[in-house]
Amino acid sequence: MADAHTSTALAIAESVRAGRSHPREHLAFAWARADDVGAGRDGLNITLWEDRAHSRHEAETLNADRRTGPLAGVPVMVKDNLTTLHLPTTCASRVLAGYVSPFEATSVSRLRAAGAIVVGKTNMDEFAMGSSTERSAYGPTRNPRAPTYVPGGSSGGSAASVAAGIVPIALGSETGGSVRQPAAFCGIVGVKPTYGRVSRYGLVAFASSLDHVGVFGRTVDDAALGLQVIAGADRMDATSIDRPVPVLTRELADSLCGIVIGRPREYFPDRLQPAIRARCDAVLAQLSALGAEVRDVSLPHTELAIPSYYIIAPAESSANLARFDGVRFGRRGAGDSLAAMYEGTRREGFGDEVVRRILLGTYVLSAGYYDAYYRRAMAVRALIQNDVARVFASGVHALFTPTTPTPAFPIGAITDPYEMYLSDIFTVTANLTGIPAMSIPIGEVDGLPVGGQLMAPPFEEAGMLSLARVIESVVVGGGTS
Ligand code: GLN
Repeated sequence: MADAHTSTALAIAESVRAGRSHPREHLAFAWARADDVGAGRDGLNITLWEDRAHSRHEAETLNADRRTGPLAGVPVMVKDNLTTLHLPTTCASRVLAGYVSPFEATSVSRLRAAGAIVVGKTNMDEFAMGSSTERSAYGPTRNPRAPTYVPGGSSGGSAASVAAGIVPIALGSETGGSVRQPAAFCGIVGVKPTYGRVSRYGLVAFASSLDHVGVFGRTVDDAALGLQVIAGADRMDATSIDRPVPVLTRELADSLCGIVIGRPREYFPDRLQPAIRARCDAVLAQLSALGAEVRDVSLPHTELAIPSYYIIAPAESSANLARFDGVRFGRRGAGDSLAAMYEGTRREGFGDEVVRRILLGTYVLSAGYYDAYYRRAMAVRALIQNDVARVFASGVHALFTPTTPTPAFPIGAITDPYEMYLSDIFTVTANLTGIPAMSIPIGEVDGLPVGGQLMAPPFEEAGMLSLARVIESVVVGGGTS
């Protein structure tokens, strides 16, 4: 197992099920790798919380069900906004310092029930607000592929844990691209399922109509396996959808005849970096050589996606974050009256970006501005939903685009919040519409990974993942420009 950091979850689980290896060995490899790459606070700053004694105990005492499960003995990492028993859940915020949840997120319990061992909680932008994992109360995470660069965000710690070879699978969350964008920046696979496909129970709410739990893997098969395990109805989340989950880990199609892939022109603007356009077009050319029809399509309201997202998401977050008042969760600030205590808790507890979102959200929901901003943003959201529905109704099976307009940027390079918001220009549409989407590595530009994005109709994760497998197989070896 010398190459344990490149082992897939599929291979680990198979060897544990066959009795060829013990979960404790895989856990030991995850720790050794984390120590080698410097996953701690002074290094890549990937892991916020871990409890090695507890994880070891879990690995030693895995019951028969878990030892034979689809993720038997697979070490996994979990973003710090998914609640876990035994480990803190802080959303990388001072306001939740020391908070340990009395219940566990459904996605995490399902991983455990399938045999996975939680290795730790990963760094993130505070409350998942950000695109670089620089806005954490615990300092930035570094990109394992280029440590002076950001890993993307907000699920940057989870993406980095997979890219660094510590774990084969990690959970992240998405409100506007926080799994796909860091997957692209770190050169791994990141999947956001259809809204409702995976329970949000135990995912600390940012913007409830946009929030999703997502999965990272080094390979498409591992990401599919992780998604397979966590997907499906959950009575603890009223928005989870009671619909059978098909087999997501199915075989490669050998021909793409009859498959129509849309290339939305708004995602290939003139200003797109030529090397990114070239990588995407090379992938599309290969898909067409395998028999797919590549069709130019249009999603005309794409340029309104960021403006409407940055009204709707802050509006919902201002309501969701009202609960952090020093009474119910985490840390209590100083103050000699109730109001002063609330104010002290929130002023000391929240970072600047979170404060910006709460102020913006409160403003757009205020009586005087609701119609001008929030109502209008919701109308734009409906236009974007119509664009997407129309393209898929015209016979397109999937859309292919760049995941991000640029590769990873250096830590500290983007200080203007609006410029940061633009990193999600190609990803937010899938959150506003709830469709499944994913990022797959498609090569490198100037030594940094680049991701290609697939978007599919609602509940078509299986088709999207099989197409991703084809892309993965054609990109291998031919991806550098
Ligand atoms: N970068 C976006 C934001 O800051 C999306 C974050 C996310 O998907 N959680 O809101």
